[in-house]
Amino acid sequence: MQTYARQEIAFVRGEGVWLYDANGARYLDALAGVAVNGLGHAHPALVQALCEQAGRLIHTSNLYRIPEQERLAERLCTLSGLERAFFCNSGAEANEAAIKLARLHGHQQGIENPAIVVMERSFHGRTLATLSATGSRKVQAGFEPLVTGFVRVPFGDAEAVARLAEQHNNIVAVLVEPYQGEGGVNVPQADYLSKLRRICDGKGWLLMLDEVQSGIGRTGKWFAFQHSDVLPDVMTLAKGLGSGVPIGACLARGIAAQVYTPGKHGSTFGGNPLACTAALTTLQVIEQDDLLANAAEMGAFIRQDLAERLRGVSGIQDIRGQGLMIGIELDRPCGGLVKQALAQRLLINVTADSVVRLLPPLILGQDEAALLTRQLAELIRQHQGSSAP
Ligand SMILES: *Cc1c(COP(=O)(O)O)cnc(C)c1O
Repeated sequence: MQTYARQEIAFVRGEGVWLYDANGARYLDALAGVAVNGLGHAHPALVQALCEQAGRLIHTSNLYRIPEQERLAERLCTLSGLERAFFCNSGAEANEAAIKLARLHGHQQGIENPAIVVMERSFHGRTLATLSATGSRKVQAGFEPLVTGFVRVPFGDAEAVARLAEQHNNIVAVLVEPYQGEGGVNVPQADYLSKLRRICDGKGWLLMLDEVQSGIGRTGKWFAFQHSDVLPDVMTLAKGLGSGVPIGACLARGIAAQVYTPGKHGSTFGGNPLACTAALTTLQVIEQDDLLANAAEMGAFIRQDLAERLRGVSGIQDIRGQGLMIGIELDRPCGGLVKQALAQRLLINVTADSVVRLLPPLILGQDEAALLTRQLAELIRQHQGSSAP
């Protein structure tokens, strides 16, 4: 169906940070399937692990034990400090699991109509509950009636969350992206999560982080919350987790880890042997190849080099982000840059109308990063010179 305004191009194979079309022309991939292909394309360790697993066992059922799933849960809990995991197939599903968990928790506390605090400009997915949680009219329009039970405040404003406590007695959780992705790569003040943690602790609310985009090394840490001193009660993952094999996860600790009981939630495919092998191998390669450090280093280089190259160019509002989650905000709409970059064999994204978004693979090398900044700075320079704000 016509759910995407697609570019005409198709890619037939990939290698590292490069994608190739049918004519053999290669494109520098600075989008990575929207923060999915952290290991780049056709990573040998991933290919081998997937081939071996596919030859052994692809799917059984969550009605039986799945050793690969148990190992993945163990690994994710060790890396994050959380205690239990539920596996599904996408970011929206991971957030559905978190939303249902918060509601069930509320009911278990005797709250009949539990509400969840969500943010303006947030993005949580396209299912009915997650689009209702999303802070974008564009995503919601035409799908009313929306799912109720969400209260919305501006992103980055902890005081606004605190004030809600005085107006509502049915709040059970706060759902927030540590860094907003689709909303424009929005970076809050450094103490935002700590403030939210304190409010949640004071009120007995669950702090639920949507790390579907920011998790799995994207920001230079395993999880974006690890740039702060807080531990969430619930965290959702997907995009980068399986390197392109669909898998999502909802992790929890403490009381939040005890909420679900058999029959309350489920997934046919979620956490099957193939998907869990993809995720386990992804985590293994990130660790072995020190890709967290690489993401931090390449991200810092890209932001600094772009800032230097774009000095004096009019209408550069901001260059921001963390690790390899980078936004360049312009003073005018810049959706056309995607096609112009494609013509120069560079894959980028524009979100929130006027923010160029870069989400390159975590394996990005120095030469490739330098090529990216050189090409992109020239494209932005031309764009800002030739269009009106
Ligand atoms: C992409 C995204 C989602 C939705 O993930 P899907 O796999 O497309 O359902 C949810 N939250 C955030 C922060 C995202 O970036």
